[in-house]
Order: sequence, then C-alpha cells, then structure tokens
Amino acid sequence: MAYTCFTCGNKYSLSEKLFRCSCGSFLQVEPHGFFSKRQLSRRDLSIWRYREAFGLPERVEPVSIGEGRTPILRRKVEDTPLLFKLDFLQPSGSFKDRGASVLISLAKSLEVSKVVEDSSGNAGASISAYAVAAGIRCTVYVPAYTPEGKLIQMKLFGSEVVKVPGKRQDANRAVIEAAQEAYYASHLWNPFFTMGLQSAAFEIWEQFGGKLPPRVVVPIGGGGFLEGLYLGFVALKRAGYVREIPKLIGVQAEKCPPIHRAFQEGLPDYREMEVETTVAEGIAVQKPPRGKAVLQALRDSGGHTIGVHDEEIISAEKILFSLGLFVEPTSASALAGWRKLPREEREGALVMLTGNGLKETKKLSDLFLSA
Ligand SMILES: [Zn+2]
Repeated sequence: MAYTCFTCGNKYSLSEKLFRCSCGSFLQVEPHGFFSKRQLSRRDLSIWRYREAFGLPERVEPVSIGEGRTPILRRKVEDTPLLFKLDFLQPSGSFKDRGASVLISLAKSLEVSKVVEDSSGNAGASISAYAVAAGIRCTVYVPAYTPEGKLIQMKLFGSEVVKVPGKRQDANRAVIEAAQEAYYASHLWNPFFTMGLQSAAFEIWEQFGGKLPPRVVVPIGGGGFLEGLYLGFVALKRAGYVREIPKLIGVQAEKCPPIHRAFQEGLPDYREMEVETTVAEGIAVQKPPRGKAVLQALRDSGGHTIGVHDEEIISAEKILFSLGLFVEPTSASALAGWRKLPREEREGALVMLTGNGLKETKKLSDLFLSA
C-alpha cells in the first residue's frame, strides 16, 4: 500500500506524514482490496463495515464516534419525486465525519500528537471531534467569516482556533506554514479523507437494495465529496456489484465557481478567478487542490456542474424548511441545483444534504427572520 501522485506518479509509503507530493500535486491511495458482500452481513452499520475499501494498513484501529448510515428520504418537490440523503445527521453535524474518522484513525496509528487543519467550519468541527476522541491536539485555521456555531463546536472539543483575516485561501496559506511542524489533517488535500467519503456511495448502494440512483446531486467546494462518491461508485462497478454508476451533478455558488467555470470551459483543472462571499460559505473554495480529480470524476460519470445564485439557494432553503429539514445554506445549494435540471433529470435524483442548520442559527435568523 502506498500514496501515488496524481500528476507525476511518485510513490510514498503510508508511514510518511505528508499531505502532498514533492512536485506540489495532490496524492491518491494506490488501488487496494475491497469488501465482500458476505463480510457486510456480519458487521455493524458504521462506515467501518467498508474498511477494506479505505486502503488503510491493517494495524490501523478505527477512531469512531458513530458516523455513517444516514437515512434516505423519498419526497416530492414541485410535483417531481426525488430522494434526499440526510448526511447532515452525523455526529458532528456534517458529512465530513466520514472522512475525518478515516484520516484521524490513520494519524493515530502514526502516533501523531498534533494535527492542524484549515476550514470554513464543518471540516474543522469534524476534525476537532475526531482528534479529541483520539487524544490528539488540534489547531484549526479559519477564515474570519466562519459562523460562530462552528467555532464554538471546535473550541468545546478543545481545539485551538486561529482566525485568519481575508479570504478562505488565506487560512489555507496559514495552515500550510503550520504544517511544517504538525501533521496537516487536511480535508482538502489528504486522500484518506476522500477514501472515507466513499462510504456514502456504499451506503447508497445498500440502501437502494444493490442498485444506484440515475443521478446524485452534491454541493462542491473543494469537491472532495463528489470525488469520494465517484471513487466509491467506481469501486462497486469494478467489484461487479453494479453495472452503471450514477451521473454526478456538482453544484457551485455563482459567487465562487472555479470548478463550474473549468467544467464549462473544458479545462483540466480549476479556473483561477476572483471570488465573492456567498451565503453558501461551506463551498467557497477558491483554489480546490484536488480540482483535476474532481473534474475528471464529473466528466467520467457523464455528469456536469451547475452554478446557483444566492437567491436560488435561499429559495431552495425555504423548500427544505417546509419539508422539516433543517440544513445550512451550503446544503440547500444542492436542491437549488436540482431545481435547475431539466425535468427528466430531476426525477429520481438523489440530493445530498451535507450540513446541519443547527450550527448556523444566527445566520439563518439574519437571512430568514429579520427582514
Ligand atoms: Zn508528484
């Protein structure tokens, strides 16, 4: 088992505490084993029932706080049937727990004593939760605009929180500097975070009774969730468990669309661009480091991207409230994107709801109650 560089093909041992290749590119986990259906029948419902698919060395023991197996709901929106996967119902309140559980388990096995992370909120809260559960110290670099609810969560889990003025990208620069002295448990760079996110694809397959929906709609900032879902679906196909994989539809905020623009323009990597602040701050990633892999996943699945305006996100959020679903605006962007699909593509699509609204009550109150 090894890391391989996506760009130059260099290999590294999994015992090396690195987050990227010396050439500057991001890493992948070398192809490895997979779980058998027979093994699944004997295991509990956490993401660790799929552990062979994560590519971790056998000595790694799970750091688990109850992540995985989120419900799928069948609903109708505007007379069209669709499904929601309630991935905001995870221990720390977002889908990131799937990746954090796997990545922090690896860090613990490497006897890491301190991790650093940069995040606009959910990933920082998630890494903080798993770090404290593993007995590892944690510092999170956040952009100054991060919602208070997410900061409180990180602080109560014992993390040191460093507010970095400026854009999301400035927090990224600060953490890469700090990463020279601590393990960078990066949800944006580290491929084991992505390996853990695959678990959502495996659950969907099991929850659909061994089948898959025609389309999966997912918000993309760094694009890790889309890449993880893609790798999971492809692994199921390679194992002969499914014939086709779903088309992946990636939704970005029009105020910060580096992957959406790249997809539209046929570019191999994200588009360098100036970005603005959006209500969907969780997907405001100006320079997604795994952009090439995300674009490849979008194209290979036969899917595409959609850009959504803040007003469209707010209007989708109102629909979710009317269904009793309390998610953050970043999650509502997925439904906003779904509403812009042609009718035949909307029907039966699975919309991923990624982050809990309970962390953003102040912002939701300002957006919906104070006008
Ligand atoms: Zn390289």
